[in-house]
Amino acid sequence: MISKKTDFGYEKVSPSEKTSRVNKVFSSVTNDYDLMNDIMSFGIHRLWKRFAVNISGIRKDSCILDLAGGTGDITKLVYEKLRKNGHVTLCDINENMLNHGRENLINTGIIKGVNYVRANAENLPFRDNSFDFIIIAFGLRNITNKNAALESMRKKLKYGSQLIILEFSKVTISLLDRFYQKYSSKFIPKLGKAVAGNEKSYRYLVESIHMHPNQEKLSEMMEDAGFKNVKYHNLSGGIAAVHRGYKI
Ligand code: SAM
Repeated sequence: MISKKTDFGYEKVSPSEKTSRVNKVFSSVTNDYDLMNDIMSFGIHRLWKRFAVNISGIRKDSCILDLAGGTGDITKLVYEKLRKNGHVTLCDINENMLNHGRENLINTGIIKGVNYVRANAENLPFRDNSFDFIIIAFGLRNITNKNAALESMRKKLKYGSQLIILEFSKVTISLLDRFYQKYSSKFIPKLGKAVAGNEKSYRYLVESIHMHPNQEKLSEMMEDAGFKNVKYHNLSGGIAAVHRGYKI
């Protein structure tokens, strides 16, 4: 059987190769991931993440899935909003990232009301209709079959509940775009080499940003997966965007 090729950065590879290479990338960046995020974005990723969590309308008793949650930034922010009855599940396909996330959270005293699940977003191992919110931050572009993942997320949300996607997107200001293209393609891989000794993985991360669907295309994909009332907010001139949609 001939399998359809997919993007791994600028390369075309088989779906199974993409999943395995993405996994290798995240295993190789785990230890420097938090530091590199702060350096690459000048700390701005923290504001974007806070914005995404703040506009979601999470309640004290919400049941939340932090999908592709990695080192746990979103879980940490969500946890601030939950009280005794709320619950957050940190789910990631990569064992190293998940373990690092668990350690980070435990070290900040976040223990009760959090659980950890290693799983592929394309086929989530949860009961249908079980989450009040699913938040996926900077994860979607790394997923091999994004449509399958969106469909799986919709299944696992309760009716009336919301999916929030925070992801890199298309810059809408041309001067900023010119600067950003240069900064991301030339500077970030060099930074990856200097700080983490890992140019290759950071080159993939930049290429994956360039290949990711723009705001309109992602809205369309969400609608095709059955999400209603899909809206997005650009952040920092479209460097990132928060998309939201409902299961109705
Ligand atoms: N959400 C965290 C954040 O914002 O800092 C981590 C984002 S990190 C750029 C992307 C994460 O997506 C990685 O931890 C990676 O292992 C995870 N990932 C990639 N493909 C996945 C998949 N198919 N299912 C679940 N997680 C996946």
